Amino acid sequence: MCGALRPSDAGKKAVLMGWVNRRRDLGNIIFIDLRDRTGVTQVVFNKELNPAAHAKAETLRNEYVLAVTGTVKQRDPSTINKNIPTGEVEVLTDELRILNESKQLPFLPGDTVLPNEEMRLKYRYIDLRRDAMQFNLEMRHKVSQAIRAYLSGQGFLEIETPFMTRSTPEGARDYLVPSRVQPGSFYALPQSPQLFKQILMISGCERYFQIVRCFRDEDLRADRQPEFTQIDLEMSYPQPEQVYAVVEGFLTAAFKAAGHDIKTPFLRMTYDESMRLYGNDKPDMRLPAMVDVRAALSAEELEEVTAKFRIRKELPWQLIRIPGAGDISGTERRTIGTYGAYQHVQGPSFVQLMTDPKRFAKDYPAISEKVMKYAHVEPDDLWLLAGAMNKPEIAAVAEQDLQHFCEKCGYLRLDLAQKYADKHGAFKKTGDPAKDFRFLWVTDFPMFAWEKGDGCWTPAHHPFTSLHEEDMAKLEANIDSVRDPKSPLGEIRALAYDVVLNGTELGSGSIRIHRQDIQRKIFQALGMGEEEARARFGFFLEALEYGTPPHGGIALGLDRIVMILAGAESLREVIPFPKTARAVDLMVDAPTPVGEAQLRELGIALKKQS
Ligand code: ASP
Repeated sequence: MCGALRPSDAGKKAVLMGWVNRRRDLGNIIFIDLRDRTGVTQVVFNKELNPAAHAKAETLRNEYVLAVTGTVKQRDPSTINKNIPTGEVEVLTDELRILNESKQLPFLPGDTVLPNEEMRLKYRYIDLRRDAMQFNLEMRHKVSQAIRAYLSGQGFLEIETPFMTRSTPEGARDYLVPSRVQPGSFYALPQSPQLFKQILMISGCERYFQIVRCFRDEDLRADRQPEFTQIDLEMSYPQPEQVYAVVEGFLTAAFKAAGHDIKTPFLRMTYDESMRLYGNDKPDMRLPAMVDVRAALSAEELEEVTAKFRIRKELPWQLIRIPGAGDISGTERRTIGTYGAYQHVQGPSFVQLMTDPKRFAKDYPAISEKVMKYAHVEPDDLWLLAGAMNKPEIAAVAEQDLQHFCEKCGYLRLDLAQKYADKHGAFKKTGDPAKDFRFLWVTDFPMFAWEKGDGCWTPAHHPFTSLHEEDMAKLEANIDSVRDPKSPLGEIRALAYDVVLNGTELGSGSIRIHRQDIQRKIFQALGMGEEEARARFGFFLEALEYGTPPHGGIALGLDRIVMILAGAESLREVIPFPKTARAVDLMVDAPTPVGEAQLRELGIALKKQS
């Protein structure tokens, strides 16, 4: 291979095959850097020693494919290239065969400046020849292999489930496949193998896994792909702790394959705690949590400041702190709260900010000292206080609740973390896995989420998720309140969990419902009548009636894990043939219109687009 030769090979005959990475023509001598997946070797054509090969080498251009035989030679000390492993040797050519030529390329794999992404995706086969992409492909391979080996060592069986199936319950739009044999009927591509893996537990498989493609027709965001890969697993008779242990095990193996020794067990945090401390359900713990400073104050002090700041004293007064970022101008300080997700998500502000600690210390010296001490503020920290506005005349204020308010504060914390990343430096890799990879489990998610658009409660995870046994009575008492936004359904906790890394959700799972009577109640609470439930999931409800063991599982996004391990900026860097933000494959040019005949065969007629 082109990356293999070393000085100890000097004098040996070598046969190399690869691409012309670069050609330098010095007249009587031509150098070719011959490249394959493993590296490059310098190949020398000398006119005096081998005029025939030299003449042929004059016709070589970038990305021609060659076979070369020759003798390995140690380079003169002055011409050694220390930057590559083969830099101390070269191959003196005996024979050159041109296996294939190449047209002039739109860009070269060795270019240091990349073309725009459209070009890279259209000519993906050239893009994939680049070292960085080869590295990513190999990383993906290693990570998948490590996960497979770990899980099969734990007794998990890798089992395939169908792609041509019916709608699955992940709540996105389906990709449909029309049936020719049964015109007017459609298969759906699976949004996940959820029901199949549960059925595999009913089938006695006990431990299943699959590294599997899932398909969701969603509006694409930067970090989404219409088809993506999950590490999907399910086990019989587990407590959540057993699922956590399996996931921690395979993540340890995957990170090890990429050269990182991570520590387990991961931290645990309930959803409620995560919302209060970080304002979201995927906390980035590389930066300090928010601190509710009310506890630092006496009742009179709290009375005084909440009145002065016109904030609600029954909601937290959050101190947000960005270490090392305190040194900014007054003008810059005054822009806090005017940008980023804080400004743009969830409409008008209902948060009252205190962003001038100096003035605060002057106006309220005792209180300032107390809150700073309580929240461990250091002298060079940027910090501010956020309270829930108490101006009932503002409509948005009337709607705010604890969660709403904390979410808003959480956005502000992350916006500042982004903006001052250079100052706090917490996002930079240190080489210490305990600092670089902050994993945690977020547990006890709510069972139901209020869907504002549809005006009803929907499953926060999916409708097969089990609830806390103690919350069963609450479910029964409120089973017909799906359209009531104030319903206590919102307080019911699920046996659902997410694994989170550095502010990114890597995966979600849950303990499932294994009893048909409870499953029926959940459907009822979701406002799904018996008939609708039968129509959508009848096969599954029936399966539940034939001796279903308690079971649970999880699925993690493989693309995202590889992206983090490869240090890549986008999922498209670690998916060999990805789609664009408009769900287009630029290389094969899909999707495309199809011909009349094909449509007719499928019994499909297209409406004219106006
Ligand atoms: N099927 C779920 C998902 O794709 C994961 C799980 O519950 O195991 O999010």
